[in-house]
This record gives sequence, structure tokens and C-alpha cells, in this order.
Amino acid sequence: MTNEPSPEERASQLRALADEAATCVRCGLSEGRTNVVFGYGDPDADLMIVGEGPGQHEDEQGLPFVGRSGQLLDQLLGEIDLRREDNVYIGNVVKCRPPGNRDPRQDEIDTCKSYLREQLRLIDPKVVVTLGNFSSKLLLRTDDGITRLRGRAYEWWGRFLVPTFHPAAALRGSARVLEDMRSDFGLVADVVAGRLEIEEPATPSEAPPEPPPEPLPETIAVAKPTFDQLGLFR
Ligand code: SF4
Repeated sequence: MTNEPSPEERASQLRALADEAATCVRCGLSEGRTNVVFGYGDPDADLMIVGEGPGQHEDEQGLPFVGRSGQLLDQLLGEIDLRREDNVYIGNVVKCRPPGNRDPRQDEIDTCKSYLREQLRLIDPKVVVTLGNFSSKLLLRTDDGITRLRGRAYEWWGRFLVPTFHPAAALRGSARVLEDMRSDFGLVADVVAGRLEIEEPATPSEAPPEPPPEPLPETIAVAKPTFDQLGLFR
């Protein structure tokens, strides 16, 4: 006997959460939105991708990553034989478009993050990919930027987290940014295929980002995430 919800139960709970978010007015971003962009993909996915927030096209269509950034994301997924409809779920840190595509404010992130926490708990992916600074800093609980964070898979609450650039950075940046993203998605492919083991503690020359403000439990490598109890997102 197990108390773990079945995939069908988790999918049902995810739909209920999306319905709740669809009418959410908990922060000021509700005032300018056309649609709440809750997330899209396989509710039983091995890979969950977390971006920043909806842009204009996403706001209009109610779906994440549907513009040029989305096309590049689909291309990178395709290069590792994944598709957003199949074993992948895509969401954002904030579910409503910040006006003028400005960065989400900390108070907006704090107000919205319970939706992301529940998405992570219900989807229970093997690997989380954070795109850009906002999601990477939030989930890794660090002030370090994405340039320093990327390039490795972090052991994260009993699974892996791979931070990489936001696709928009590759579209407006150098070819090097795109190559770095390809390298990071190679790590994702390794995790999904079971080729990557939990890492040993980093050597001093490969020091991970600053530790989170609270001590992590010793069971981190094997524990199922209990985000509320363990203080994630505080
Ligand atoms: S951004 Fe999040 S918290 Fe703010 S209104 Fe939208 S769904 Fe609600």
C-alpha cells in the first residue's frame, strides 16, 4: 500500500490548480494580463522546464514559450529527442505577463511561487531545467547569476536541476550562448536517460553557489521533495 497519488490523481490535481490560477488576482500582474499562463505539457513528465514569465505571445495564447524563444526551446529539446508534448512540462515563475515585458518583481514572485511549488510536487520530475536568472536563483536559493551557475547538474531535493540561459539570451547573444545551452541540454539528456549519478561534493575549485540560508537535510539525495516542510522557496 502506498499513499502516493497515482499519475491520474496528480494530473487531476494539476488541472484543479490550473483552474484556480485562471482566476487568480493575488498580485498586481492580474490587472494587465489577457490569459494566465499556467503551464503546458505532460503532467507525468520526467523533465520540467521553468522559465521566467509570459511574454506578449504567451499572454495572448495562454501557453508558455510560443514565440521565437519557444521555437528555439523546441529545437534544443528535439536535439535530445524530447518534445514538449511528451515527457516534458513547461511552466514559469510567474503566471501572468509583467507589463511591457519588464522583469517580475520580488513581491510578485513571492506571491506566485506557491503555484510553481505545487506544480513541482505534483509533476515530480526527474530533472528540472531553469531558464535564466529568475528561476535559477529562486530554485537554487542563490544570488549568483546564470553565467556562474550553468554548466553542471545540481543535486536538488532528490533529483537534478540544470540551470541554463533563457532562450531569449541565445537569440540576442553570441553563438557561444547557444552552444552553452546545447551543452546544458546534453546534461539533461544524460539525466533523463539515467546516465548521470548524484554528484559527489564539489571540490573547492568547483565550489557550488552559496549554501541556502537553512541547513539542508542529510536525506536530500534520496528524499522525495516535501517543499513546505523543508522550507523551499522561503
Ligand atoms: S502572477 Fe501569479 S499570483 Fe499574480 S495574479 Fe498571476 S497567477 Fe496570481
